[in-house]
Amino acid sequence: MHHRYDVLVVGAGGAGLMAALYAAKGNVSVAVVSKLYPTRSHTGAAQGGIGAALGNVAEDHWEWHMFDTIKGGDYLTDQDAAEIFAKDIIEAVYELEHMGLPFSRTPEGKIAQRKFGGHTREFGKAAVERSCYAKDRTGHMILQTLYQQNVKAGTTFFNEYQVLDLIIEDGVCRGIVAYDIATGELHTFHAKAVILASGGYGRAFKITSNALTLTGDLMSIYYRKGLPLEDMEFYQFHPTGIAKLGILITEGVRGEGGILRNESGERFMERYAPTIKDLAPRDMVSRAIISEIREGRGVGPDKDAIFLDVTHLPREAVEQKLAEITDLSRTYLGIDPVKQLVPIQPTAHYAMGGIPTTLDGECIATDDGQLITGLYAAGEVACVSLHGANRLGTNSLGDLIVFGRRAGVAAAKFARDAVLADMPVNPAAMASDMIASLKTGQGRENAARIRKELQETMMANVGIFRNGPDMAKQVEIIKELKDRYRNVSVSDTGTRYNSELMETVEVGFLLDCAEAMTASALNRTESRGAHDREDYTERDDANWLKHTMAYRDMRGNGNVNIGYKPVVLGKFEPKPRVY
Ligand SMILES: Cc1cc2nc3c(=O)[nH]c(=O)nc-3n(C[C@H](O)[C@H](O)[C@H](O)COP(=O)(O)OP(=O)(O)OC[C@H]3O[C@@H](n4cnc5c(N)ncnc54)[C@H](O)[C@@H]3O)c2cc1C
Repeated sequence: MHHRYDVLVVGAGGAGLMAALYAAKGNVSVAVVSKLYPTRSHTGAAQGGIGAALGNVAEDHWEWHMFDTIKGGDYLTDQDAAEIFAKDIIEAVYELEHMGLPFSRTPEGKIAQRKFGGHTREFGKAAVERSCYAKDRTGHMILQTLYQQNVKAGTTFFNEYQVLDLIIEDGVCRGIVAYDIATGELHTFHAKAVILASGGYGRAFKITSNALTLTGDLMSIYYRKGLPLEDMEFYQFHPTGIAKLGILITEGVRGEGGILRNESGERFMERYAPTIKDLAPRDMVSRAIISEIREGRGVGPDKDAIFLDVTHLPREAVEQKLAEITDLSRTYLGIDPVKQLVPIQPTAHYAMGGIPTTLDGECIATDDGQLITGLYAAGEVACVSLHGANRLGTNSLGDLIVFGRRAGVAAAKFARDAVLADMPVNPAAMASDMIASLKTGQGRENAARIRKELQETMMANVGIFRNGPDMAKQVEIIKELKDRYRNVSVSDTGTRYNSELMETVEVGFLLDCAEAMTASALNRTESRGAHDREDYTERDDANWLKHTMAYRDMRGNGNVNIGYKPVVLGKFEPKPRVY
């Protein structure tokens, strides 16, 4: 089947839906292609909120938010992106409110706000209430609101279609190829502009807060074409996943006054971040937790967890404002957080890196900033360099809204003037061959086994603390796993809802993301933000204040070529990061 639209959006999370809505407002035909039903996208799991300097609860200014974002990103943040972001998100939150998003309220009826890690007043003096929230279901409400707005705007949805290829010829994007999960049919979508909004790839790690579907599909498809992935070494671990399971407990819990305690009941964050303590940025809190565990002060049967304590908070605050996590603790741990301490562990959470883009979401193809015509990206799949080396909590939802909107506006503007570029003669050839070879292959390798080994070794070798020898070992492990992946075949050769087939394809995507991440991390010989090396413990601005660009070596030798892109500096000079 063949389809034709002016603008195509891949992914129906917050970024995809915001981009689609703004493209539709630009008077062009718009379709969203999503492997999930839109409201099942991972954005729906976001609990904590969306940060904006509204100043509803305490004085706040966009400059403070901009500064916190840059400092939180350990100065690898592009300051032009941070400025646009901190300014635009204020009006964008009001726009969401006017669309009908049911934000929680202050007693006077304004949008309620709470504290969150790394968000401060007066450039770091004390924590400030900046996160706007709808109880602890903010992401869910964003998705519902934006989906309804898209239905109203006439956006066409292709749900449960998995994109397998992107058609780029002579530097011009011409469309995509997608697999209809319900029927097994391949569809080609011919378009003037394509916006990638397919989310992250937390499933490269064993313990993760990310949904099963977050497998980096479009990052990998981009990378397979010899195009770069930016800053892949920066992967965030969220400090508070439910022990052993990784299911997220929002930072909103600490924003509401929750405290981390070690085995002796000590509030250990006082030693690591004396000013904002438990509300330090995530990279710092995750490292502090692992340090406590390594030094023998962990809790639980394996002494590999830490306690999150909310027992001192009023019952109604916990049950009302943190309903979802109360439920999760009761369901998965049989623990009632109102009365008992909850065991937590850091969990792989968020990709700061991804497909490099300009401030309008245009995809960047080279170190010197050449673009792919008609191709855009926004949200977690993209790297507009807003989050630098470490993202602050609540800044991803803001990123989706601000940069999703910019990508939608830019793509529609481009599509209104552009002439539809030709599709190649057989655009689905690659995808069709890939499926055929998985179905008819005689290899005996099993994709689930490869995925398990990848997740375990990534956790051990490219996790919170890193060092050269372990990462070098991981480079070899990934090469070997990729060799084995070539001998994978599927046992289900059916066409209807063949989840084995799609999961096998996803393992291939994960291997690429892990390859780019490990090579970028091994290459960066400093510690910055979420990238913490035991063999290079200092931040090294003289040599490393630059973005990594990882390219697959197209000669098929499994190597990664590294390039660089300058950081856009501005009024906030890099300083040591003390909280
Ligand atoms: C548990 C959890 C809680 C979080 N809480 C917060 C929070 O409180 N505040 C905050 O700012 N951030 C939070 N984050 C981070 C934030 O939610 C995510 O970074 C963000 O929602 C990503 O949105 P997205 O639109 O880029 O992608 P997603 O919402 O992940 O959507 C991806 C979309 O792409 C589609 N897709 C993927 N691959 C394909 C393919 N091959 N073909 C077709 N479609 C495809 C999927 O169907 C889906 O629709 C949280 C993350 C998690 C995991």
